[in-house]
Amino acid sequence: MARTDDDSWDITESVGATALGVAAARAAESGSEHPLFDDPCARIFVDAAIARGWSPPFTAADPGPAQAGRMRMLMAYVPSRTKWFDEYFAAAGADGIRQVVILAAGLDARAWRLPWPDGTVVFEIDQPKVLAFKEETLAAHGVEPAARHVGVPIDLRQDWPEALRQSGFDPTQPTAWLAEGLLPYLPAEAQDLLFDRLHELSAPGSRVAVEGFGPEYFSEAKQRIREERMDAVRAEAARSGKPIFDVSDLFYIEPREDIAEWLTRHGWQTRFETSAEVTARYKPEVAGEVPDVGSEFVDAKLS
Ligand code: SAM
Repeated sequence: MARTDDDSWDITESVGATALGVAAARAAESGSEHPLFDDPCARIFVDAAIARGWSPPFTAADPGPAQAGRMRMLMAYVPSRTKWFDEYFAAAGADGIRQVVILAAGLDARAWRLPWPDGTVVFEIDQPKVLAFKEETLAAHGVEPAARHVGVPIDLRQDWPEALRQSGFDPTQPTAWLAEGLLPYLPAEAQDLLFDRLHELSAPGSRVAVEGFGPEYFSEAKQRIREERMDAVRAEAARSGKPIFDVSDLFYIEPREDIAEWLTRHGWQTRFETSAEVTARYKPEVAGEVPDVGSEFVDAKLS
């Protein structure tokens, strides 16, 4: 699963499959007793991928404690993250923003499931085969978007600003951007370029929300702790005969600037909450028992 500068993937492969992993978590949350949100598309995506031969992670009949712990951690983290960014878009809509760009949209179904104000357009950028799977699957189920939806199939390491403009994006209008579940899959240099470009395309009044991973996250000490935890998960998985898909194999573990600091430095009014604070608010029943992912959720405005 080694990464290369111009690697590409389908939905069940490499970085594409990470979109299925988070969709599976949203499907599970939606089917739970007191869900934080309802994402009916998530189940549709998961079932369509299973029909293509994809096997959902963490479905061992008898998971050991390490696997069960990782599952609990993801089920605290992913739904809390979804809820936080859902609220961001509600606030951006209330601010009067009608142009939305979801970077690395994967199987994010917000364009189909959120109550967008009239006149909203949602652009989604991701690799071509990922967006093709998403759009074909939803069309096959007759699911209609709740805003004007425009897919922009391109790799974020390529000239995506040009592709976005050609798809009708208007840089003179304020935009609500989202980068969720993306940054560790980009080299540090590509992350900087992504935000340089986003900044250039942002009219006054724009907002951006980011799932950020600061220098501490990529430190050797934190990396070692995560590896030890994953070694235990892998050992259990090997015993059960079901190999584990470890997303961090796809990460670029490189020092990079904290994104809240980057945005502040570029004139954005920035606020953030840590993943520990967010999961404690939305999943108080489990947050204290599971390891913290160690990310931060950033919401910044440009005046
Ligand atoms: N944002 C979505 C969510 O939270 O449900 C998807 C997150 S998933 C963990 C990562 C997504 O990033 C995948 O859909 C993958 O295709 C996309 N991605 C990663 N690197 C990318 C790149 N260089 N260009 C385009 N998409 C990329």
